[in-house]
Amino acid sequence: MSATHAVTRAGTPWEPVYLLSIDAAECLGCGRCFKVCGRNVLALTPLDEEGEVAEDEEDIERYVMTVANAGDCIGCGACSRVCAKDCQEHGAAQALKVA
Ligand code: SF4
Ligand code: SF4
Repeated sequence: MSATHAVTRAGTPWEPVYLLSIDAAECLGCGRCFKVCGRNVLALTPLDEEGEVAEDEEDIERYVMTVANAGDCIGCGACSRVCAKDCQEHGAAQALKVA
């Protein structure tokens, strides 16, 4: 079944591709996706050496992007187009899950 929920201004059906998850093992934490998202969906998150969210500043090993507000994504796909690591999963609204 089609997941089309929207049309372009010209009335052409358009299928949103919502951000479902980001692979933390592949993400560079570069922030490019964050910069192009106008919906405050993403958050740069500090990880410790075990790959868990770092609670203290001295435990931070690296940063990765996470899907902080999944329900606010409009499925524009802009974040996907700027990611050099191809580490994002996108899909239809029916498959929405909080990462
Ligand atoms: S698909 Fe669009 S709205 Fe959703 S996270 Fe990516 S840039 Fe933001
Ligand atoms: S653009 Fe890709 S590699 Fe960069 S922070 Fe976003 S998901 Fe990670």
